[in-house]
Amino acid sequence: MRQSQLFGKTLRETPKDEVSANAQLLERGGFIFKNSAGIYSYLPLGWRVFEKIARIIREEINALGAQEIFMSALVEKKYLDATGRWDVDISFEARGKKEKSAGFVLGWTHEEVLTAIALKYINSYKDLPLAAYQIQAKFRNEPRAKSGLLRGREFIMKDLYSFHSSESDLERYYEKVKEQYYKIFNRCGLKTIYTLAAGGIFTSSNTHEFQVLSPIGEDTIFVCSKCEYAENKEISKLKDGDKCPQCDGKIKKENSIEVGNLFPLGTKYSDAFNLQFTNQKGEKERVIMGSYGIGLGRTIGTIVEVYHDDKGIIWPESVAPYKFHLIELESSGQEVKKQAEKIYKTLFDKGLEVLYDDRDDKTAGEKFADADLIGIPNRIIISEKTLSKNSIEIKKRNESKTSLIQISKFVKNS
Ligand code: ATP
Ligand code: MG
Repeated sequence: MRQSQLFGKTLRETPKDEVSANAQLLERGGFIFKNSAGIYSYLPLGWRVFEKIARIIREEINALGAQEIFMSALVEKKYLDATGRWDVDISFEARGKKEKSAGFVLGWTHEEVLTAIALKYINSYKDLPLAAYQIQAKFRNEPRAKSGLLRGREFIMKDLYSFHSSESDLERYYEKVKEQYYKIFNRCGLKTIYTLAAGGIFTSSNTHEFQVLSPIGEDTIFVCSKCEYAENKEISKLKDGDKCPQCDGKIKKENSIEVGNLFPLGTKYSDAFNLQFTNQKGEKERVIMGSYGIGLGRTIGTIVEVYHDDKGIIWPESVAPYKFHLIELESSGQEVKKQAEKIYKTLFDKGLEVLYDDRDDKTAGEKFADADLIGIPNRIIISEKTLSKNSIEIKKRNESKTSLIQISKFVKNS
């Protein structure tokens, strides 16, 4: 991609209405645009990061045998009436212009909708287990939408739901989801802590959260510095300095961001919708369910909170919008530009992801500052100085050392 053509430009000034690092840097870098408080649009750079994360999630969730679906965002009242969740404070109600009262909400969750769908397709023990997921926007009128992508009023979630014939089958599946979640967050560069938690407004007993330590996190967890056993403050009786209940380590109080969670739902929704299956003896039994969320925007925001310095974002390679940031520093003549174009074309033809700073109206200093802000992991500089040695200069975003490489060698090896 030629940076001169990129939809979305870097901003010099830090947006005044943003307090969190993720919102400031993502807006300044041209990744997202703030439409309203807690409501953001993704621009091309941000959407590329989003798609990288979505892909990682799809690969790891598909590996569980779960099938991707896409449910309607408009959820009719009858679904939420079945569980008494029509009137929750966070919902945005929706109505047609000619209707007098709202008959729909913009979906803030989809347990009810999927249970209603499952009712049509789950009849026998042979239909179980079943798992389906989607990646879709959720709408919640969050009172504290202030931390950029960490807490939006509209945000994109991966929501996975599983249906089982027994509690032990749910437990087995739950453990498998946990393993996949570790893989997903590891691949995104995030170190997560599996934390025992309460259910929030979803009142089920033992739930779990994947938490990332960060000073900006709204959650407080008590975590063992040795074995990483952790409990959310909401439910914990632990205190800072306590002995770990699982080993001889010490408990520490930490702020953290919840990037994902797991809920054993039991029969709450299958009871509400009378979702049953016929077991091997021909008797009716209630279906046992689980649900599992990951916030994609919140994951992006968390990555930025963890990976930035005073100059900008430092993307882990796996989720970076581009692998290479090619920067040409033409000072006179056309030779540098010509060589840069050639390298760009070669990398592009090889299918490598390159952002090419071909802008003529920017100084070297401005180009470097933008590159630091955008945070692409590998910077390639071509200037008269490097060309005099038939070389390019390579620098990683997270290292200060630079190295010269012969152009022919670089092109061959990349
Ligand atoms: P929280 O306690 O942070 O409000 P939650 O318990 O309501 O989250 P779920 O409704 O189960 O979470 O959502 C699943 C995942 O979606 C969360 O783990 C989080 O990553 C993400 N998420 C939840 N609410 C938001 C939000 N307002 N903005 C961005 N991401 C969110
Ligand atoms: Mg919530």
